[in-house]
Amino acid sequence: MWRSSGLSKLGESMTLASEHVIPKRGPGTLLALWRGTMGHCPNCGKGALLRRYLKVVPNCAECGEALGHLPADDMPPWLTIIIVGHLLFGNVWYVQRHYDIPVWVEMVGWPSLGLLLTLILLPRCKGFVLALLWVLRRGGAEKAAQA
Ligand SMILES: [Zn+2]
Repeated sequence: MWRSSGLSKLGESMTLASEHVIPKRGPGTLLALWRGTMGHCPNCGKGALLRRYLKVVPNCAECGEALGHLPADDMPPWLTIIIVGHLLFGNVWYVQRHYDIPVWVEMVGWPSLGLLLTLILLPRCKGFVLALLWVLRRGGAEKAAQA
């Protein structure tokens, strides 16, 4: 059993699986997270991560990396709510204090903006969470590697 981050080489990431540290080749963490956020495979960056808006592809069409086993669960909606909530709260507060906008415009505008932001950010957040799970090798990655 060897556990040392000093064993890591350049371009090689270390992951903890069970009690053993397994060297894993692939992109760096930030690059994998960026690729996932942009809706691409965190491994190669070429294949699509999602199809039909939020459905995870079982395997990358380009590199064959197994992706369908990653369980994002409720994290992408929570992350989206946190981001959209903070964006809207600050702007609603600012507009309320500095501008005199008719109520009906705000009643239509803010929910519409919230819906638009949610629809734009939800797949990005899901891609980010899936890439994070992929980087951490969570969600049955060990089982997929053994099969
Ligand atoms: Zn790929």
